[in-house]
Amino acid sequence: MRSKIGKKGGLISAVVNPTDNGRLEFFDKACLLWNEQGLITYFSPSMPTADQMAGHEILLRENMIALPGLIDLHTHLPQYEFAAQGAAALLPWLTNYTFPQEARFADDAVAELQSLNFFESCLSQGTTTVVAYLTNHLSAAEIAFEEAARAGIRAYLGLTLMDRNVPPELLTDARRAEKDMASLIGKYHNKARSQFVVTPRFAISCSAELLSLCGEVSRAHQTLLQTHISENQHEITETLRLFPEAKSYAAVYDHYGCLHERSLLGHGIHLSDDERLLIRDRRSVIVHCPVSNNFLGSGIMPYSRWQKEHLRLGLGTDVAAGYSLSMLHEARQMTEMAKLRAFFDDEDCVVDIETALSQATIGNARAIQRDDIGCFAIGKRADIAVVDDSRCETLSDEERNHYASLKERLARVVYRHHPEMVTLTLIDGEIVFAREKT
Ligand SMILES: [Zn+2]
Repeated sequence: MRSKIGKKGGLISAVVNPTDNGRLEFFDKACLLWNEQGLITYFSPSMPTADQMAGHEILLRENMIALPGLIDLHTHLPQYEFAAQGAAALLPWLTNYTFPQEARFADDAVAELQSLNFFESCLSQGTTTVVAYLTNHLSAAEIAFEEAARAGIRAYLGLTLMDRNVPPELLTDARRAEKDMASLIGKYHNKARSQFVVTPRFAISCSAELLSLCGEVSRAHQTLLQTHISENQHEITETLRLFPEAKSYAAVYDHYGCLHERSLLGHGIHLSDDERLLIRDRRSVIVHCPVSNNFLGSGIMPYSRWQKEHLRLGLGTDVAAGYSLSMLHEARQMTEMAKLRAFFDDEDCVVDIETALSQATIGNARAIQRDDIGCFAIGKRADIAVVDDSRCETLSDEERNHYASLKERLARVVYRHHPEMVTLTLIDGEIVFAREKT
C-alpha cells in the first residue's frame, strides 16, 4: 500500500485548513506541492505554473476534500479489538474487559496481529499521528513499534506501567519498568516516525516509587508522559484513599514530578478549581475524550469553559471506551456533548465544527509541541487526509446541488460520517493508505 518515499508530489482538491485562531479556511480548489523530504513547498488556490509542477507526481482529487492529517492524542492499542463492548462504569469495565484483553498480549502472535490491525485502522480513518497506550509487555511493545514503522504512521507509544491493584500478569515493578523503558527508549525513541511515551496507567495502579520513576524518566529524556486523571468519581475517591497525604488527584501527579509541559492527562472531567490552576501552572494538557466519556457515563468535560481559563487542551478517541478510531467521529461527538453540557449548565459554551476540527489537527499538534504538522503551510510536513464526501449516507443529486458549499460539504462529513469516507492518507507526502487505486 505504501508509495515510495522520496518523490516530489502534489495534490489538487478542495482544501480545508485550520488557522492559528481555531477557525478554518475553505478553498474550493487548491494545490499542494511537496519536495522529496515530504515538506510542503507550495500551497495556494492559484494553480502553479508548469515549471513549478515539473517533476511532481500530481494526485487529482478535485471532487474530494483534503484536510491536514488527523491527530489522536489518547487511545489504547490493545483495546481496539473489544471497542463497543461492555458499557459500564470505569472501574468494573477495566476489571471485566480491559485487563483480561491486555493480558493476552503476553502472546507475541496476538500483539503482532492486533498492532497491524490497529495502525492500519488509524490510517484508514485519516489519522496520521497517534499517541497510544500499549500493555505492560516489553515484547509486545517492541512489536508495536516495529509495526508502526512498517505502517509509516507517526506513533507515540508507551509501555503501560502498573505495580499494584491489577491482576498479577499485568504487574511490573519500578526496577523492571526502569530497565524496560531504557531499552525501548534506546531502540525506538526518535527513530523512524516513532517516539516513546512514559505511561503510568493512573494513580490507582501505581505506587509512589513508580510514579517518581515516571516523572524522572520523562524529564531526563524529554519524552511525553501520558496518564489518566479525574475521569470518574469512584476513581477519584479511590485515588485519594490510596494517597491520603495528597490535597487532590492532580497534586498526586505533581508531587511525583509527573506534571510538566509534555504531560497528557486523559479526561480531567471533574477537576476542581485548584487542580485546574495547578495543571495550568505546570502547562500540562488535558485530553478530552467525549465518546469514551459518554460510553462509560463518566460525565461531560466543559471544553469551552476550560478553554476560556487558558488550559492547554487536546482531543482523543480513547478506544476502547471510545468505540471508534475516527477523529472525525470524535469531532462530531465533541460538538454534541458540548451542547448537552451547555444545556445543563445554562451557559453559552457551544463547540462548533470549526473548533472541533481545529482541535483534532493544529490544536493537537501544538499539545505535543509539533509545529511541523497539523495544518498546511510552506515548510510544514505533507500529512494529508483526503475525504470523499460523496460517500456520506445516500445523497440525492438535489441535495448535492443545493448544499454544495465547502462548509456544507464539511458538515456532512462530520455529521453523516461514513467509515469508508477517507480514501487516501499521506504522511510526509508518502501514500500510507489508499482505499482507491492510485
Ligand atoms: Zn484511556
